[in-house]
Amino acid sequence: MKVGFVGLGNMGLPMAKNLIKAGFEVYGVNRSKAAEELLEGFGGHIGFTIAQLASDMDIILTCLPMPADVEQVYLGKDGLIENGRAGLILVDSSTVNPGLNRKLYKAAAVSGLLFLDAPVSGGTTGAIAGTLSIMVGGEREVFMQALPVFQAMGKQIDYVGGSGSGSVVKLINQLMVGIHTQAVSEGLALGRKSDVDEEQLVRILTSSFAGSRMLERHYGNHIVKNDYKPGFAIKLLGKDLDLAVEMAEQSGVALVVGNQVRNLLRSAIRSGFEGQDMSAMLGYQLQCDKQIETEPIKHFAVFLPMKDADKSVTFREQHLQFLANRREEGKLLANGRFTDGAGGLVIYKGRMLEEVEAWVKEDPYIVEGARNYEIHEWDIVLAE
Ligand code: NAD
Repeated sequence: MKVGFVGLGNMGLPMAKNLIKAGFEVYGVNRSKAAEELLEGFGGHIGFTIAQLASDMDIILTCLPMPADVEQVYLGKDGLIENGRAGLILVDSSTVNPGLNRKLYKAAAVSGLLFLDAPVSGGTTGAIAGTLSIMVGGEREVFMQALPVFQAMGKQIDYVGGSGSGSVVKLINQLMVGIHTQAVSEGLALGRKSDVDEEQLVRILTSSFAGSRMLERHYGNHIVKNDYKPGFAIKLLGKDLDLAVEMAEQSGVALVVGNQVRNLLRSAIRSGFEGQDMSAMLGYQLQCDKQIETEPIKHFAVFLPMKDADKSVTFREQHLQFLANRREEGKLLANGRFTDGAGGLVIYKGRMLEEVEAWVKEDPYIVEGARNYEIHEWDIVLAE
């Protein structure tokens, strides 16, 4: 069986290596050629385009960073679907939203191709050991055809339902990974401030109800070694929480804590932590704690003059939800709009103008071009 593999990164490369180990003929494509050479050193075939792979393989797996990368590799003119031969099985192991899975499933079907969503869990350790959890959505018969390929890479392999179901399960997993990661960061930050022995603290937590796979992974593989090379990058966990929040909004589920964790990940990404392993959320926590010690809270008045009245109407709900999230985080003093249509005013609580400006730039009104903005630090004087 000829197996193509697109995306030979932290996960894809060891997954592809395990396919070679299991006796499959593996053809690898990666954006940076150094990763392809690593696969060649292990017995893989390289030097092909995605289109060539599509016309010649029996099955092709993809493991790519962002949904936009997946869209491009599948739906681009030189991509998998346009160039795939009838009967080709396409398997996406990237973490994306179920809606994208269904879109690719339908586009593949139109061209006589078969598509499975098969996101994975278990990290680079599981990818290297061939012990990944693989959760698969799509048609059961296609899953059965692809099963030997999954068995070469994983241990816990489940068919979970129609197209997109694999990603639903994966995003629930990621939501909980994010929450547990934040729990580890806050727990250890508190431990450090209280001068308890960290190794002993972790040993006790591990054998108590607070123990978790995330605690063991983050502490044992990264924190104790002070080594934050990813593993699983904060940028990718941020993307996953964005997708989980989007899925929850569509399902009508209130992710009170999940939303907060998503916002923290976004702030960490803006603060330069995006390339570090997710365990480095502890570093971000410590950095925020330091700021609390050194910088007092100030007020910033943000004037949002009207730019496009139609867009303001269209994005009002999103803007108000955005402000509600900031209120929950304790970052908002007040907000309101001018009844004459001139725009609105938001009073933020923050430590630095740059920090507040970064929040303002995420406001859907600004992102979508409905309003302009002006920020002024505001020396508040209460009337009473
Ligand atoms: P990564 O950034 O290490 O690897 C992605 C690879 O894809 C890179 O080598 C990059 O060069 C390549 N790539 C990007 N665009 C490409 C294109 N258009 N054509 C060919 N190659 C391209 O990411 P990763 O950590 O391996 O994660 C990949 C996916 O798996 C993500 O969706 C992630 O969320 C998910 N995932 C990661 C982990 C983990 O622990 N790292 C665990 C489970 C799931």
